[in-house]
Amino acid sequence: MKLFVTGGAGFIGSNFIRHMLGRAKSFSVVNYDALTYAGNLANLETVAADERYSFCKGDICDAALVESAMAGCDAVVHFAAESHVDRSIYDPGVTVRTNVTGTFTLLEAARKLKVPRFIQVSTDEVYGDVGPGTFADEKSVLAPNSPYAASKAAADLLVRSYVKTFNFPAIITRTSNNYGPYQFPEKLVPLLISNALEDKALPIYGDGKQERTWLHIDDHCRGLETVLERGKLGEIYNISGADVIDNIAMARRILQSCGRPESLIMHVADRPGHDRRYATTALKIEKELGWKPVVKLEDGLRGTIDWYRNNPKWLADVRGGGYRSYYQKNYENRAASLKSLTDAKPPAK
Ligand code: NAD
Repeated sequence: MKLFVTGGAGFIGSNFIRHMLGRAKSFSVVNYDALTYAGNLANLETVAADERYSFCKGDICDAALVESAMAGCDAVVHFAAESHVDRSIYDPGVTVRTNVTGTFTLLEAARKLKVPRFIQVSTDEVYGDVGPGTFADEKSVLAPNSPYAASKAAADLLVRSYVKTFNFPAIITRTSNNYGPYQFPEKLVPLLISNALEDKALPIYGDGKQERTWLHIDDHCRGLETVLERGKLGEIYNISGADVIDNIAMARRILQSCGRPESLIMHVADRPGHDRRYATTALKIEKELGWKPVVKLEDGLRGTIDWYRNNPKWLADVRGGGYRSYYQKNYENRAASLKSLTDAKPPAK
């Protein structure tokens, strides 16, 4: 099976490519990626020489290039996205272009080429803030609250419309917060780990009581493989972890595992529109396809911390690229910059 993987140089895509190439000799991969700040070919060093792997540098909004690169593939697994909520707040246009127009461009190419399977990798953030103690399932209403979540929901709805209108062979997966090796250190877990290892402050938005459901990247890759092989066309599957904890609890666990004091936690002004709780049930995929997360949070975090501890060069390289000023601006000074956003007043009429 020849897979057309978009965004394969990012965190989840690169783990997925390595996972699939390790599963069976019959899998081959075309990795189509624009190599934005989040794309890093070093994530794929171990498979770069594999004859079943090829790379095409391209934008998912480039219809002609997408179509020529996708030709002959048996399935599309679509990861490429602007995936960070903070960036979608600072620069919503880039997020909407890639996540909505890019998905539309891929749908059109796959429809034209009659690709038999299209997996849209989405997020639990499309369900919005689910309320204390509750969980969203696949039938829950979409209520996205950030430009990022809204762009992913819009893309999901486009996919749905293609399924209904054109009998297009797509499946949507919605995953919870992933963590593991190769995640860009703007995201919560690698940001907290890398700062803890360097004895820097751990910035926590607001009171830190925002709850998230954590899924180890290996469990997610197995879930996607399951959906690719056995998922029913036209369906939606939540792929979520078993552990719902708040951000402060995550910071404490990381500090404890790294042997660092809790005094490193630094509360900063909250993110505008910050959802309090994302939580989904994965009962459908468990019951219908037999997938379940198996990596315990404690073990997954320990392995992830070890990976960041053992890969200082990878970390230095991703921080040291052309986007360093962005990284510094938004994360080393995030308290100040977010304060100005939250304090902003509408113009006087
Ligand atoms: P990431 O930011 O690490 O990687 C995104 C990849 O997409 C990068 O390699 C980047 O170069 C590429 N890309 C961006 N814009 C592109 C464009 N216009 N054309 C081609 N390539 C482009 O993201 P990730 O964390 O690996 O997330 C992958 C997918 O999973 C995304 O669709 C995201 O919405 C979804 N998701 C992620 C999480 C998570 O916890 N990381 C949770 C839920 C859903």
